This record gives sequence, structure tokens and C-alpha cells, in this order.
Amino acid sequence: MLPTTRSLRLGFYTLAIILGAVLAAGLAMRHAERQALVEDAARANQQLALYANSLHTLIDRYRALPAVLALDPQLRAALNGTVSTEQQDALNRKLEKINGAARSSTLELLDRTGLAVAASNWRLPSSYVGHNYGFRPYFSQTRTQGTGRFYAVGVTSGIPGYFLSSAVTSDSGEFLGAMVVKLEFPELEREWQGSDTLLVSDARGVIFIANQPGWRYRLLQPLSDSDHADLKATRQYDKQPLTPLEYQSLRRFDDNSELARVVGPDGTADYLWESLPLTAEGWTLHLLRQPQVAFEDTRNAALAAAGLWLALVFLLLFLNQRWRLAKMRQRSREELEQLVQERTRDLRTAQDGLVQSAKLAALGQMSAALAHEINQPLTAQRMQLATLRLLLDHGRVDDAYKALKPVDDMLTRMAALTGHLKTFARKSPSGLRERLDLAAVVDQSLQLLDARLRDEQVSTVLHLTRPAWVRGDAIRLEQVLINLLRNALDAMQDKPCKRLQIRLEADEQLWRLTVTDNGGGIAAEHLPNVFDPFFTTKPVGDGLGLGLAVSFAIVHESGGRLSADNHASGAVFTVTLPIDLEAPVSC
Ligand code: ADP
Repeated sequence: MLPTTRSLRLGFYTLAIILGAVLAAGLAMRHAERQALVEDAARANQQLALYANSLHTLIDRYRALPAVLALDPQLRAALNGTVSTEQQDALNRKLEKINGAARSSTLELLDRTGLAVAASNWRLPSSYVGHNYGFRPYFSQTRTQGTGRFYAVGVTSGIPGYFLSSAVTSDSGEFLGAMVVKLEFPELEREWQGSDTLLVSDARGVIFIANQPGWRYRLLQPLSDSDHADLKATRQYDKQPLTPLEYQSLRRFDDNSELARVVGPDGTADYLWESLPLTAEGWTLHLLRQPQVAFEDTRNAALAAAGLWLALVFLLLFLNQRWRLAKMRQRSREELEQLVQERTRDLRTAQDGLVQSAKLAALGQMSAALAHEINQPLTAQRMQLATLRLLLDHGRVDDAYKALKPVDDMLTRMAALTGHLKTFARKSPSGLRERLDLAAVVDQSLQLLDARLRDEQVSTVLHLTRPAWVRGDAIRLEQVLINLLRNALDAMQDKPCKRLQIRLEADEQLWRLTVTDNGGGIAAEHLPNVFDPFFTTKPVGDGLGLGLAVSFAIVHESGGRLSADNHASGAVFTVTLPIDLEAPVSC
């Protein structure tokens, strides 16, 4: 079976969510690693500052020594002329003693040509005495500037060291020679022993101090030709071979901090490489540390990021679902409202139609009665006219006038009847709310049914409060009354003694109109249904079952109520309508 578009889309979304989670985890891992490296670098930097401090302290301790010794009168006197063997011996012993006390590596006294006239190591085979060091930069520096300093591998001893020198001058300020102290760093290198690699490089990038074997005399950058020439002239690193240290920067944090891949003496490894320039000496101190990023930290960061991503996705999905649900609810509410409006409109149209068809039905039923009603006066009038003709033939004009009166009356009544029928059949606009007297509506309805009331010998009892002002549509209310009266007459059809009672009285804010008959009442099981459209107990052709339904609607429309009930011998229909309190307009 082919997968549906829906399941394809679902698969795509799932894949996108998983990819997002993996991406978030990957990014978080990278970030965590980087963060750990940056923190490690900051820690290494602090340590580097401590190491730099210890180096400075060491150098500073000896910086003043040659200057102080250069003031010694014995040394100055010795350099003033040629040094005798006894003088040299005395000087050697003196320097040896001071060197022991100061715990420096070596002390030597050079004459104005750079020849060592005395040295603390005079006893050793590597004694400086008798050697000339005029080629060393510290000597020329001392001659020209008064002091000098220089790191170099001892040409005699082969031991590297830092030479600090001070000029020995005559009273007149003439340069007589130089007092030199040599410091060696093996002790410092031992002190720095640890897991980190500590290096000191000179201005040319030559590493000359290292706490690990194999790093010393490596080049951090290629030497120029002039560098080569200088090194040769000063014999700074003497016979030591200088080999380049290969490294490649992987990531740079700042000018003095980076992650680098170094081909070191112990093989290739990645190092966190921190540098600190030592401006006083023109050197640079380096700390190389193998980064240690905790696996748990990065894993936790990755899990947290993936979790966060999933939570975010589910939150968005949840919100989206809610929003769609709300939109759907809103749409169905609108649809329902529209439907209700449509139905209400339809209902009103249907109701108007019902009222009209009920009227027409009533009209149809009434026409038979009307034909009878009109026929009777017509026959009477024909007979009356024959009488009139006879009276006129006999010249009895006065009697003839008298005989005209009943004809006139009968014609007036017939005109009233037909006029009323016209208004009854008219389709009146719904919602008419004219001020009208309910008692007059009762009168007019009774008048319309007068013939039937008389024919069926119904005794009618009226208790009408006049005027009974209400607001509504007179024709429609009249239709209600006619329906109620006709139903009462129908119910009393087979009763020998027919009694119809109509009451109209005020009850607080309402007019209460009751129509009571003695037709036997409505069966209890029918009572809840009498107002339903098309509910009828009458034989087919006699009843449509619309009268009460339409009447109910009309009364409601006028703001009133219509109810049905039984009394001892028949039914009672009650119409209540609000009393219209507005005073009639007097003109
Ligand atoms: P129809 O008169 O065409 O049957 P109506 O809606 O006017 O329709 O009346 C519905 C039914 O209510 C009648 O068929 C009848 O059963 C009952 N009914 C109405 N008025 C009375 C009454 N005065 N006495 C007894 N039953 C009545």
C-alpha cells in the first residue's frame, strides 16, 4: 500500500524534530567544549602569571649584586693597573667567598678588554680566568650603557645562564672593566616540574628554558640571516643545534592564548598554549597544557540542549493545537449562529404564512355562514320591498316610510359585515403595535360570529371592563378571539344548553381575558398539545389544527400569554396582555 500524504508529512516532521534535537545536542557539545577550553585557558593564564613572578623574583634578587661589587675599592684598584698573581689570587678567593654567600652561579671580573682577571670558579677546570669575553653583548652593553644583561650558553663551561653585569669605573668615570654575575636556571626548571610544559623563549623565538627535556633550543619561528650572523658573533647558544618546533594553530582565543597541534619531543599532541611576554627581559614565557574536557560535562550539555529543544517543539505543537482548536470552535460557533439566524428567519416566514393560511381557512369556513347571514336579510328585504310597493300603490306614503327603516338597518349591518371581512382577509404586517381597546376587539369578533351564536342559541354572558387599552395588532387579536370563540362553539355543538362566558378584567399590570364554555373541556392527555400546530381532534375537513398555534404566536408577539385549562363543565382559555398605561391623545 502506498503511504498517504498525511503519514509522509508526519514522517517528515518526526525526522525534522529528531534532526533538530541532534543539531541542538551537537551545537551544545561544541559550545560546552569551547567553554571548558576558555575556562582552562583562563586558569592556565593565572598560573603563567605566577611562574613569571617567580622568574622575575629570581632575576631581581641578583640584579643589584654586580652594581654593588663594582664599587669595591679592591676590585677597582686591581683594574687600574696590571694585576699581579697575588692580587689575582686574592681577588679569586674574594669572589669565590661572595659567590658562596650570595648563592649565585659564578662571579667574574673582566678588564677593559673583556679579559677575565678573576672569577669565583678559578679552582675548576672550566675556570673563566684568562678567557676573553669581549665578544659577549653584555660586555659591550656595559661599556656603553654601564650595565648589561644577556642569556647565553657558557662558552667555557657549556652551561647556559643569564649574565648580569655592571661597569667598574675610575673616580673620573673612566671605564675600567665589568663585574659579571652569572645565574643558571636548572634549579628553576626543577622547581617548575609538573604536568604542564613551561618554556621561556628569547626575542628571536629561541626556547632557552624548559621544564621538560627535549624542548630547549627549539625555534618557535625561523631565524633570519642577520639573526644567524648575530648568534654566531655572540656565540649566544654556542654549539647548541637550534631546530624548529613545528606547530599549527587550531583555534585562537586571543593574542596570547590558542589551541595548537604541536609536534613536540614526545610526539604530536594538542595543547592549550598560553603566552606571557616578559617585557623587562624581552622574553616570552609559555605554558603548554593538554586540554582536559570532561566527557560528562559535554554529554550533559548535549542532553540538556536536546531536552530543551524537544520541550520547545512540544510547547509549540501544544500552542498550535490549542490555537487551531480555538479557531475551529470559533468557526462552528459562527456557523451555529448563522444557522440559528436562518432558522429564525424561516420560522418567522412560516409563522406569517401560517397566520395567513389559517385566516384563509377560517374565511372559507365562514363564507358558508356568511352566505346564510346575507341570504336571510336579502329574503327579508325582498318581502319588505313587496310590502312597500303595496303600501305605495294604496297611497299610504307614511306607512311606506316606516317600512323603509328596517331595510336601511339591514343594509347597514350587511355593509359592516363585508367591511369587516375585507380587513380580516388582508395580510397585515407582523409586529404592528397600535393602541387599541381589547373590549372593542371582543365586540367585533362577537359581531362576526353573531349569526352562529343566534342559530345555535348560545347564551352569552359578558363581563367587559371598558376601555381596556393594550398595544398590538387589532386584526390579529380579533383573529385570536374568533379562534377561541369558534372552538368553544364547536365544543358545545351537541350540548342542549350552551353557555359562553367572556370576562375582561384588570389583574395588576395585565388585562386578563377569559373565554369559558361548557363543552366538556379538553381531555387531560391533550392539554399539553393543544397549542401544537396541526393538533386537532376534529374530523378531517372540519379542523386544520392551526387555530390555537397561530393564536398562541400572535398573543406572544403582542407581549402576552395564552393558556388553556379545564373547569367543572368545560374549557377556559385565558389571554393576558400588558396594560397600556399611556394616556389616550386628546384632540
Ligand atoms: P382546530 O380547531 O382546527 O382543531 P385548534 O388549534 O383551534 O384547531 O384546536 C386544536 C384542538 O384543541 C381542537 O381540535 C380541540 O381538540 C381542542 N380544543 C380547542 N378549544 C377547545 C374547547 N373550547 N373545548 C374543548 N377542546 C378544545
